[in-house]
Amino acid sequence: ATVPQLLEPGQRSKPGDLAIVLLARDNYEPLILEQSTGAVDGYAEGATLNTRFGSFPHSTLLDIPWGSQVRASAVDTGSRGRKRRRDDSGDDASTPALEDTEGTATPTSAPAKKAVTASSGFIHILRPSPELWTYSLPHRTQVVYTPDYSYILNRIRARPGTRIIEAGAGSGSFTHASVRAVYNGAPKSDDDRKGKVFSFEFNESRFRKMEEEVESHSLKDFVSIKHRDVYNEGFLIDGKSPMASAVFLDLPAPWKAIRHLSRRRPQDMEQDPNDSSEWVSPLDPRKTAMICTFSPCIEQVIQTVSDLRKSGWVEVDMVEVSNKRLVSQRDRIGSYLPKEKGANPNPADVTEALSKLREVNQKTKEFTRIKANRGEEGQNDQMDVDGSEREPNANNKLDESSTEKVWMQGRLIHRAESELKSHTSYLVFATLPPEWSEEDEAAAYAKWPCGN
Ligand code: SAM
Repeated sequence: ATVPQLLEPGQRSKPGDLAIVLLARDNYEPLILEQSTGAVDGYAEGATLNTRFGSFPHSTLLDIPWGSQVRASAVDTGSRGRKRRRDDSGDDASTPALEDTEGTATPTSAPAKKAVTASSGFIHILRPSPELWTYSLPHRTQVVYTPDYSYILNRIRARPGTRIIEAGAGSGSFTHASVRAVYNGAPKSDDDRKGKVFSFEFNESRFRKMEEEVESHSLKDFVSIKHRDVYNEGFLIDGKSPMASAVFLDLPAPWKAIRHLSRRRPQDMEQDPNDSSEWVSPLDPRKTAMICTFSPCIEQVIQTVSDLRKSGWVEVDMVEVSNKRLVSQRDRIGSYLPKEKGANPNPADVTEALSKLREVNQKTKEFTRIKANRGEEGQNDQMDVDGSEREPNANNKLDESSTEKVWMQGRLIHRAESELKSHTSYLVFATLPPEWSEEDEAAAYAKWPCGN
C-alpha cells in the first residue's frame, strides 16, 4: 500500500506531494508539486506557480524543508497561457491570483528591471496537514472546521485502527481529519486490519471531486468513497459490513440514515417475504459503537434523538461547540503614560492627543519608508516564518527611542473575536453497546474467580 504523503510527509518536499502555499496571512492555497526544470536562459520552464508576489517554478519548491520561505524567481513567465484560478471571494485585492502554467516556456521579453520587480515577493511552502487542508480546500459545501472535528473525533473515540463511517463527504474536510485519526501505518497486506474511513456522498460531482482528491493525496487505501444515497441504501460495502465502530453523519436528515445503523433489522424496514437472508449491520458486533450527528436546527436534533433511541442507542446527549478567540492587544487610541514618568492616564486635552497621534503617524511613515527601501513594497500583508509581521530591522523594533515610550504601545486590552471559523451546529452523541448473547455471558462468568 502507498504511504499517504498527507499523513507522512517526510522532511522535504518532492514531486507529486501536496504542499500548502502560504501567500499571506490567512491566505493558503493547496498545490501539487511537479517535476520542472525551472528557469533556463531567462525562460520559465515546466510547471510554474504564478502569484501576485511573483513566479515560482516548481523546481524552486522541490527538495526543500517544509516551512521554507521561497523567494520569487527572477524569470518572466509572461502573461501568455495564464488563466485565472477559481477565486471564491472574487475579491482581486484580497486574494492573490494563483496560476499554474504548465509547460509554457515564455521568452523573457521584458527588460531586466521588470524581472527584478517580479522577484521581490516570497511564499512559504508548508507541510500538508488536515488542518491546513481544511483552511485551503476548494469549498463545495459547508465544511466541518477544526474546533468541531477535533472534539467530535475525540468523543467518537476515533483512534489508530478505528473503522469509521462518514456521510455525506461534502468537501472532504472531515474525511481528511478522520483519516489521520484512524491511520495506523501502511498495511502489509490487504487482509491486514487497518483504520479506515468509509465515506458516502450522494451528489455526483462532489463524489467525483472527492475521488480525485483521495487519489491525488494517496489516501485510496485508507478512504473508501462511495456514490450513494445512504437514506435508502445504507452503509454496506458490496453487501458486506465495513465493521465500523464510529459514525459521523453530516446530513440534512440524519434520522433517515440511523435506521441502517442498528444491531438488528429495524421493524420499519420492509422485508421481502421471500427474502430469508440475514440482515447485515454495518457496525462491528463485538465493539461499542459511537455516533455523532451534526445539525444546525433543534428540530433536526429532536427527530435524531428520537430515532437514535428507537434503534437502541443509549447515553444520548447534545453539545454545541462555541469558539472564542481572546485577543490581547495594545489600544493605541486610549494611550497613557506610566505614572512614574508623570503620566496622565487620560490625555488632558485634544492638543496632547493630537501630538501623540502625529508622532505615531511619523513613525508609521518611517516604517513604510524603511520597508520600501528593503524592496518589500506591496508585501505588507506578508509575514515572517514565525507568523509575526515583518519589522524593518533585525531587532523587531522601529528604533530604540520608540520602545522607551510606553504610551506609544497603548493600553493593554482584551477582546473576544468571533471570527474563528466553525459551523455552529448541534452535535448529538450516542453509544450503542456491543451484542451480548447468553454464550457471551456464560463465557464472561466462567472467567470470574467465583465462576465454575
Ligand atoms: N462534512 C463535510 C465536510 O466536512 O466537508 C460536509 C458535508 S455537507 C454539509 C453535506 C453533504 O451530504 C452534501 O455534500 C450532500 O450532498 C450530502 N448528502 C445529502 N443527503 C445525502 C444522502 N442521502 N446520502 C449521502 N450524502 C448525502
